[in-house]
Amino acid sequence: MAPIKKECDYLVLGGGSGGLASARKASGMFGAKTIAVEVKRLGGTCVNVGCVPKKVTWYAASVAETIKDAKNYGFSVEQTAPFDWPTFTKKRADYVKKLNGIYEKNLKNDKVDWYHGLAQFIDPHTVKITLDDNTEIDIVAKNILIAVDTPGAELGYTSDGFFELATQPKKVAVVGAGYIAVEMAGMFHALGTETHLFIRHDTFLRTFDPMIQEKVTAEYERLGVHIHKSSSVTKVEDLGEGIKKVHYSGKNGEETLEVDSLLWAIGRSPELEKLNLQVTGVKQNEKGHIIVDGYQNTNVDHIFSLGDVCNQGFELTPVAIAAGRRLSERIFGGIKDARLVYENIPSVVFAHPTIGSIGMTEPAAREHYGDENIKVYQSNFTAMYYSMFEQEDKGPTSYKLVCAGKDEKVVGMHIMGLGSDEIMQGFGVAIKMGATKADFDRCVAIHPTSSEELVTMK
Ligand SMILES: Cc1cc2nc3c(=O)[nH]c(=O)nc-3n(C[C@H](O)[C@H](O)[C@H](O)COP(=O)(O)OP(=O)(O)OC[C@H]3O[C@@H](n4cnc5c(N)ncnc54)[C@H](O)[C@@H]3O)c2cc1C
Repeated sequence: MAPIKKECDYLVLGGGSGGLASARKASGMFGAKTIAVEVKRLGGTCVNVGCVPKKVTWYAASVAETIKDAKNYGFSVEQTAPFDWPTFTKKRADYVKKLNGIYEKNLKNDKVDWYHGLAQFIDPHTVKITLDDNTEIDIVAKNILIAVDTPGAELGYTSDGFFELATQPKKVAVVGAGYIAVEMAGMFHALGTETHLFIRHDTFLRTFDPMIQEKVTAEYERLGVHIHKSSSVTKVEDLGEGIKKVHYSGKNGEETLEVDSLLWAIGRSPELEKLNLQVTGVKQNEKGHIIVDGYQNTNVDHIFSLGDVCNQGFELTPVAIAAGRRLSERIFGGIKDARLVYENIPSVVFAHPTIGSIGMTEPAAREHYGDENIKVYQSNFTAMYYSMFEQEDKGPTSYKLVCAGKDEKVVGMHIMGLGSDEIMQGFGVAIKMGATKADFDRCVAIHPTSSEELVTMK
């Protein structure tokens, strides 16, 4: 059967955070005839195998921690049965499904047509969509946005596979030192899985401020996560019945560990073969990421790209959303300079405890401004929550402000401790506005909180 032919002003490839935000803005706000295409599930990585199911699991892990903590406040709470992983994962999947439906409704409200199918370029202006029933639609578009994902490696399982685990592993090896590895190791441990984290250096989260790296690595060790430092996984053997033997070289030479679960969280890179990108002439870097300028322009006039597939330093949902909206404002809304400024973007790691970070690390600020122009304020303390705990059960809190120049502009803020995820957003506004240390100090403290420390640092 000959392909169906369609035309539009804006064709969005990828129904994830960035693609859908941009499509809805272009159509709903500016009336551009917009079509979106998604090959898996609407909402993309964030909704289906990222932020959303991850945060729900983090909440489950936090409840497990609270049950343990309860005795310190005089409660005699006992877990009388193991954590019910299958029931929890079913509820989580139902929640995600509900969100998929909301995303579909939102597209309808904003008059975005969408297709469930695989998008493949035929030429720089034409994309073939192969629907589930093999119907083909050729869409000729004036403007095309590439907002596809970066799937993970296929050995063992990746973070995508984490959300498909039908039963709770007894003993897991997590390989990786980035935020996804750290978050997943923390959740496994809190929920009662014996957790081994393999990292290539002595600390994890190596793009974060050294204070965060050191304190959180030490805290994971205190909590009982087995951290295999300076290690490198060399081979994995399948021993049958779900057991895998992990061979690794580490500080003690060659060693092995048998586990019933192996999670690779070693970074993702784009896979654009299926998209047939080569017919467009769009340039990619050596890792496969699409090269864009600060306005999400690729080297081909009418083709734009954003989100994880471009890796502009922040692989985060709100970053993809903001970039997508700004792009539609620029192409269809006549706002010539609309673009996302990739600077002072706050981010959080749902570790145990949580971490918040914005701006430059201390070493980056010293390099940028010179040592003599940097003043650092740091505070390590015990949050009041732990006042009822035995000494050995108390968790740490550490805050750091990195200030530059005579007026001590806050150019970096790095925090770890209970509630850091929620604290970060408000301080992010202040730092984005260019707050100085004196501005922080002028803000009257809220007492008793942990965050009051941030406005009273000496
Ligand atoms: C485990 C995990 C946890 C995370 N946690 C957080 C968090 O807490 N906070 C946060 O801000 N970010 C988090 N992220 C990152 C966040 O999910 C991504 O940054 C965000 O989803 C990127 O959006 P995007 O629009 O670039 O791509 P995606 O959301 O990945 O969407 C791209 C879509 O393109 C589709 N696609 C690919 N190829 C084709 C094709 N040829 N045709 C049609 N469709 C195609 C894919 O199926 C996919 O749905 C997490 C990521 C992971 C993996």
